[in-house]
Amino acid sequence: MTELVLLGTAGAPLPVAGRRGISSALVVGERVFVIDCGRGSPSAFADAGLRFSRLEAVFLTHLHADHIGDLPGMLLYGWGVREGDDGPLPPIRVYGPPGPDALPAGDAAFHRETTIHPERPAPGTADLVDSLLAAYAYHLNVMPLDARMPDPGGLVRAIEIPVPAGTDGHPPAPVTVVDDDAVRVTAITVTHGHAIPALAYRFDTADGSVVFSGDTTANHSVIALAQGADILIHQVADLGYLERHGVTGEALRRMAGLHTDVSEVGSVAERAGVRELILSHYLPADLDAISEADWAGRARQGFTGTTTAGRDGLRRTLQRITRPLP
Ligand SMILES: [Zn+2]
Repeated sequence: MTELVLLGTAGAPLPVAGRRGISSALVVGERVFVIDCGRGSPSAFADAGLRFSRLEAVFLTHLHADHIGDLPGMLLYGWGVREGDDGPLPPIRVYGPPGPDALPAGDAAFHRETTIHPERPAPGTADLVDSLLAAYAYHLNVMPLDARMPDPGGLVRAIEIPVPAGTDGHPPAPVTVVDDDAVRVTAITVTHGHAIPALAYRFDTADGSVVFSGDTTANHSVIALAQGADILIHQVADLGYLERHGVTGEALRRMAGLHTDVSEVGSVAERAGVRELILSHYLPADLDAISEADWAGRARQGFTGTTTAGRDGLRRTLQRITRPLP
């Protein structure tokens, strides 16, 4: 059995009441995979009844704080239970994008003042995990003196995904990230402003297929990756709402280069031919800004499948349909 759980559905870093930051889990048999680790995701993971001893891998779509802010907790809170009858469990694998070769430059309208950590200003997934271990070295080195802990050297392994960029308007080929008897994970680059590369992921199991768009503009990469999938979890923004609330001019144009407007997502789902579109990573994330019915009603324009407004804790079970032999 494969089960999807939305752990958090808020977009953007600023915490909002009543909705957790972006994170999802996919449970394949006894194995648990987490896609993005937004605000509150370790608590949501426990609330969903998932077990940290079963956490096999984390997949990061990109390295903005709203997607990785609670990665430290996802790795460290469950450290004590990362031991089975036969000794320590395998490391939690953290898959994600590599850092860019060079720090992107700004322009007259949008640029940074200070470059933080200039000797490594755009760390990728491996540097991120390495820096987290460095930041928490006190806990990792001292805790084992007072409590029986698994070897911290085996807690986590970072794996950067070597994704090719698309060319000439053609989507790049998806990269296979995981492929074993039970699950195949593929990734593709999507478009999310200066966050390069940003990734979408597709999970295929014997029970069905689930695609996570990550943060992206309405994108031919997502359409290519999600062809025929059972479920597409896609981010949504209401750019009109943002405009009415002060995001105008160049700021609004930048926002449109980061996110998919709710009016466009139905067409993405239709062209991908998915069975169900589930909305997540809401922008605005405030529960009282836009109702679920409103989000879903506008998102389903142009889509002939099922549209669902995702919410924290939403679950979907995918089950292989065993048809009787003719
Ligand atoms: Zn985001």
